Amino acid sequence: MRNYYLVLQICSLLWVSCDTPNPEQEPSTTESTITEMEPAKYAIVIHGGAGTITRADLTEEQDAAYRAALNAALDIGEEILKNGGEAIDAVEKTIHYLEDSPLFNAGKGAVFTNEGRNEMDASIMIGADRMAGAVGGVSNVKHPISAARAVMEKSPHVLLTGKGAEQFASDNGLEIVDPSYFYTQRRWDALQRAKAREAENGTAEVELDHDDRKKGTVGCVALDQNGNIVAGTSTGGMTNKRWNRLGDSPIIGAGTFADNATCGVSCTGHGEYFIRWAVAYDVAARMAYKELDLSNAAREVVNEELVKAGGEGGLIALDRYGNVAMPFNSEGMYRGYAKPGERVVATYQE
Ligand code: ASP
Repeated sequence: MRNYYLVLQICSLLWVSCDTPNPEQEPSTTESTITEMEPAKYAIVIHGGAGTITRADLTEEQDAAYRAALNAALDIGEEILKNGGEAIDAVEKTIHYLEDSPLFNAGKGAVFTNEGRNEMDASIMIGADRMAGAVGGVSNVKHPISAARAVMEKSPHVLLTGKGAEQFASDNGLEIVDPSYFYTQRRWDALQRAKAREAENGTAEVELDHDDRKKGTVGCVALDQNGNIVAGTSTGGMTNKRWNRLGDSPIIGAGTFADNATCGVSCTGHGEYFIRWAVAYDVAARMAYKELDLSNAAREVVNEELVKAGGEGGLIALDRYGNVAMPFNSEGMYRGYAKPGERVVATYQE
């Protein structure tokens, strides 16, 4: 058995060294080591959005605030997993924290639509049986990720949208708030800037780089001590979106995917590309059909396919051994992971 794993490791090293990375898109270096020999008891990985996040964009205080929030979110999920809790609870509770923070484009910090509303999307998927739930375009549900979970557990459907999704959330006892709860000055100002640019250029400007060129969709993937993988994503979408636009975040296979046989994935970036490239599923498919390891499957999709297509963003993923990948092709991505004895939180290419 040991020899088998040794051969596997040597093969994976050879594969990595023969591969030709895209020179312009350095893969992120904050990835955990591929160790199929010693599966982690549990693992959790999160993102808080990808985009133009550079050292010049963030003050030291802002950077520290993001890192503190990512650490606090990881603490919540890790505590659940460490004590033998289920991955689904770790994902939901971790995302609650990120949804409650005004720093991220999800829940409280959601961006504004062209009409000046907040329309949020979320999805969740279980790797054991591919059960999934999602909501799109909800404006009064405090925790959209819980609405997604409720759709999965309490309805025969996978994706509910708009008024129907809100009614379903309320009928199932989820916390409903006045839409004004989601108002934050900085997101409002970002919408006004997008509209001003639109007026100036005469073309529809959907802001990928909302909030002064930073993104903030949130996601979490967890592996629990029973070997189950769960992935979840929650977002306000893109600043100045209109016509009830939905991005990739509520679309299973695009923004979120989980299968215990391969991996769990949560994405962030220009949703239209992530939908068309079926990004989350593509990572799992490359593991299943090309027999790539997690790191190479994720890198191919984000740093090769999406780069060729012009789709900006990144993703977080983990496999059943607790290996973690966090590739992105933008300048930065708020991200981090935790597993026994290991903790990483990062913002830029570092
Ligand atoms: N993927 C999200 C969307 O297109 C946005 C983001 O990740 O920032 O709605």
